[in-house]
Amino acid sequence: MSESIVHNVIIIGSGPAGLTAALYTGRANLKPLVFEGLQPGGQLTITTEVENYPGFEHGIMGPELMDIMRKQAQRFGAECHFKIVSKVDFTTKPFKVYTDNDEHLAHSVIIATGASAKLLGMPSETEYMGYGVSACATCDGFFFKNLRIVVIGGGDTAMEEAGYLTKFGKEVAVIHRRDEFRASKIMLERAKKNPKIKLITNTVLEEVVGVNENGKKRVTGAKLKNVVTGETYIHECEGIFLGIGHKPNTDIFKGIIDLEETGYIKTSKVNTKTNIEGVFACGDAQDHDYRQAVTAAGSGCMAAIDVERYLETLHG
Ligand code: NDP
Repeated sequence: MSESIVHNVIIIGSGPAGLTAALYTGRANLKPLVFEGLQPGGQLTITTEVENYPGFEHGIMGPELMDIMRKQAQRFGAECHFKIVSKVDFTTKPFKVYTDNDEHLAHSVIIATGASAKLLGMPSETEYMGYGVSACATCDGFFFKNLRIVVIGGGDTAMEEAGYLTKFGKEVAVIHRRDEFRASKIMLERAKKNPKIKLITNTVLEEVVGVNENGKKRVTGAKLKNVVTGETYIHECEGIFLGIGHKPNTDIFKGIIDLEETGYIKTSKVNTKTNIEGVFACGDAQDHDYRQAVTAAGSGCMAAIDVERYLETLHG
C-alpha cells in the first residue's frame, strides 16, 4: 500500500537516539513518524539498571527509561509504530521508506537504527544459540541458576554481563583473548573483587561443546585454547555468553548511503548529515567511539535540529 501524504520526517529506530530525535522534531511541530524496528526501545531494553544516564540519581531500569522516552516523544505528537523498515529509496525526493509492502514518503529521514551484539560466527555457536549460548545476560541469565557460566570478551559489556550473571550462576569465568583488558578500570575492579568471577586471559573459545539428547540440545562445555601455550582443554559449563561488542544495524543502507568499512554510517563529524542531503544519522549506527545512551540521545537531538534547519531551507 502506498501513502500519498509526505511526512516531514521519518525516524528509523527507537533507542535513545531515535526517541530523542522524535521528542525534538515533535516539539518543533514536525509530527515525526517513528518506525520502532525489531527491538523497540533499543539496546537499553535488554539491560538492567542504567546508572550513568544523567537525571536519575539512583539509576533507572533500562526498559523503564525507554518507556518514559517514548511517552515523552508521543506527548509532543510523535507517532510510533512497531514496524520494521525493510528497504529505503533515497534516489529521488520525497524519500521512500518501506515497511513490508507499505511505501511511506518523507521530506527527510533520520537513521537511528543502533547496533546489535556481535557473534563469533562459529558453527557450534549457531547450533547452540538459545540452548546454552546467548548474547544477552539480562534476557537469559535467569535460566542458569546455580550453573556454570562462561562469558567471552574483555570489555565493559563482558564485565557487566559477568557481574549480572553471578546473581544466577554458581561460577562465572570471563574468557579474554589478550592479557590486557579493554574494560574501564571501575568495571574491571568490580569483576576482580567478585568472588564468583574468574578472569582467564590469553584464551579463546575454539568451540561450543554440547550434547543432543533425543532432540534436546544443551551446552556441556567450552573448548578453550590458550593462545600463548597452544594448550586446548574443555572448560565444563552449561552457559556461554558473548560479550564481544556490537555491530551497527545498517545492512539495509549498504550501497545506498556512505558507510565506513565497519558498517557504521559516515556522517560529517560536526553535525549528523550523511552524504545524501535530507538524510541524517545519529546514535550507535554512526558512532563507534562513545556508544553511550546519553551520547546517542545527544546526537538524536542534533539530528532533529539538523532536520528542522534542512526543512526550513526546503520550504523557505
Ligand atoms: P568493546 O569493543 O569495548 O570490547 C569488546 C571486547 O570483546 C574486547 O575485549 C575484545 O577484545 C573482545 N572481542 C571482540 N571480538 C572478539 C572475538 N572475535 N573474539 C574474542 N574476543 C573478541 O565492546 P563493549 O561492548 O564491551 O563496549 C562498547 C562500549 O560500550 C564501550 O565504550 C564501553 O565502555 C561501553 N559500555 C559501558 C557500560 C557501562 O558503563 N555500564 C556497559 C557496557 C558497555 P580486544 O580487547 O582484544 O579487542
